[in-house]
Amino acid sequence: MTDIASPPLLRLVGVAKRYDLRRGLRRLLQPAEGNTVHALDGVDLEIARGETLGVIGESGCGKTTLGRVALRLQEPSAGRVEFDGIDIGSLDARRLRALRKRMQIVFQDPYASLNPRRSVGQIVGRGLALHGGATTSAERHARVAALLERVGLPRAAMARFPHQFSGGQRQRVAIARALAAGPDFLVCDEPVSALDVSIQAQILALLGELKRDFGLTYLFISHDLSVVAHVSDRVAVMYLGRVVETGPSRRILSAPAHPYTRALLAAVPRLDARDAPPRQRLTGDLPSPLRPPPGCRFHTRCPEAREICRRVSPAPIQLAQGHAVACHLYSGAAP
Ligand code: SF4
Repeated sequence: MTDIASPPLLRLVGVAKRYDLRRGLRRLLQPAEGNTVHALDGVDLEIARGETLGVIGESGCGKTTLGRVALRLQEPSAGRVEFDGIDIGSLDARRLRALRKRMQIVFQDPYASLNPRRSVGQIVGRGLALHGGATTSAERHARVAALLERVGLPRAAMARFPHQFSGGQRQRVAIARALAAGPDFLVCDEPVSALDVSIQAQILALLGELKRDFGLTYLFISHDLSVVAHVSDRVAVMYLGRVVETGPSRRILSAPAHPYTRALLAAVPRLDARDAPPRQRLTGDLPSPLRPPPGCRFHTRCPEAREICRRVSPAPIQLAQGHAVACHLYSGAAP
């Protein structure tokens, strides 16, 4: 159950991530501008214990970088990431390793993320061993078997290799490996987007059960709003490295405020489509993160853009309890 009374389990404060594409001599010879990817810019987010925060946005919006920075798999260029009140950027390698037991990730492509030369028993057992979860091999064997059964795989799966499984089964192995460390926080980075629709529903149901059983907190990343809305308590909408809207899932679905969120929703098929008013669809491509537009980054595609949008970046405004939007339409600045 979501615990909003306690301090958040994860907090991102003003997080930015930039990649300089220049290497070696090019750093001296070429200007930084136009050679720097602005993957994240001023991201503030909180996730309560037991909560699932869904992060939605088009490919290239920075959501995968967000997940990796949240786990300190990548260092932020600016800002701070706190996990359970600890600034994880301040930890040395030993203390970070100890904290990593509590923070795990499930990737989009289970085949690429599982070592093809190791058996499933070795893959999941390695997770246990790395994090000191079992001391003897008999104990490890029993724990691995129990984990596999918990994610819906038979004990016999231990002796097999990743290529001997279907995509959905491989994702179950990847989930078992993540659970082996005994985490309380999981980043799920597009965990079902490589799977058939029927299998997607099974994996989402499994993640829901595991969340309840193990008291997990999820950062759930997807480009598919219908998937995110299905599993999340709250949603954060990202556009070109910035969070443009956050709010409870139901509210974001029923009363989206940001023109970008509305455009994402327009792309989701609706049962009531015949009677519903037409929704503005998204046109044009996501601008390059090498040269993000000034002002509101969405202004090059926004059907409601004003003059101010081209110059001034909108600050987040609270529309209701827990619902914030960064758009001049709500700031009183736009005529
Ligand atoms: Fe559109 Fe302006 Fe709002 Fe950006 S700030 S979403 S350009 S109306």
